[in-house]
Amino acid sequence: MRKLIDKLYKDGDLRESELLDLITNITPDDREYLFECARNKAREHYGRNVYLRGLIEISSYCKNDCYYCGLRASNKCAKRYRLDKSQILECCKTGYELGLRTFVLQGGEDMHYTDEILLDIISTIRKSYPDCAITLSLGEKDAESYQKYFDAGANRYLLRHEAYSSDLYSKLHPKNLNIETRLDCLKNLKQIGFQTGCGFMVGAPYQTYEHIVKDLRFIKDFQPEMVGIGPFLPHSDTPFGEEQAGSVSLTLTLLAVVRLLVPTVLLPATTALSTASEDGLVLGVRAGANVVMPNLSPLDVRKKYMLYDGKKSSGTESAQAIDTLKEKLETIGYEVNFSRGDNIKFAN
Ligand code: SAH
Ligand code: SF4
Repeated sequence: MRKLIDKLYKDGDLRESELLDLITNITPDDREYLFECARNKAREHYGRNVYLRGLIEISSYCKNDCYYCGLRASNKCAKRYRLDKSQILECCKTGYELGLRTFVLQGGEDMHYTDEILLDIISTIRKSYPDCAITLSLGEKDAESYQKYFDAGANRYLLRHEAYSSDLYSKLHPKNLNIETRLDCLKNLKQIGFQTGCGFMVGAPYQTYEHIVKDLRFIKDFQPEMVGIGPFLPHSDTPFGEEQAGSVSLTLTLLAVVRLLVPTVLLPATTALSTASEDGLVLGVRAGANVVMPNLSPLDVRKKYMLYDGKKSSGTESAQAIDTLKEKLETIGYEVNFSRGDNIKFAN
């Protein structure tokens, strides 16, 4: 097993059969070794820095019906809200004063936000905060819209591919959503010039190790600038409400593998990981993650952006507690970095 890990460290790649062997049979000792390799690789490119992104959850309305997600349109129990331009700018102001230099606008696919409305919001943030990066995570749009957002000043886009296997994708989504469209969107984003993020949930219903290997292969081939990986967590008002949560240790293994497959990737220790495990944040960084996304949404809406049960939005997940986050990371020898934190392929 160590030979495989050494090979992955050295070559940044493994064959499918080797990846399968690694993620299926890794022992706790070997996993510690894998994490050490992943930390070393992150350090080669980004030092001991952990980059911050202020997460603004702009809307809990969604037209889609992903089976796993608490915001799905069919969830009649979901509490819905949307932020207007002035509320979003207020979040940016709070974040800027806290020292944050990346704002992530994430939300359900809410038809209220026409391109006109979004362009107004993006260009106003761009004008008000010329030194900040703007990341969008607003789902699938046509290439023309993505291009307009980019031209208005957005720099990065997060769109998890969710499942590279079309079989699995169709078990997690209704028929109108498919992996081909998802991948087209990702290709368009990259071509336009966005720093682009893909990713998937670990332990989603029906997901096998073989599916995960396909996801890893896709990530290696696509060479994203960012990758979002967190455990699947059930939401009681969804079709998957009774399903088991994804494993924390497998999530950590996969974070480390992704760090070694794409050494320069910006890799968050996700909110889902922190929700699944009290120490998720520290464990994620120890496995090669180098980004955290503290929540900047207005306090009164945070409980309404419930992708899954128990989603954390306080403590180290809250932008208001950056000092706690800083202390936590310092105890394991890491520095919170307040710069924009671009992927080094894009840094000038
Ligand atoms: N609507 C946008 C962005 C918001 S959802 C989109 O879908 O791209 C952001 C991410 O949350 C999704 O990509 C999904 O991977 C994750 N997510 C949704 N439901 C989840 C659950 N039950 N457990 C863990 N992650 C979940
Ligand atoms: Fe909507 Fe995104 Fe949730 Fe799917 S995962 S239902 S697109 S918010």
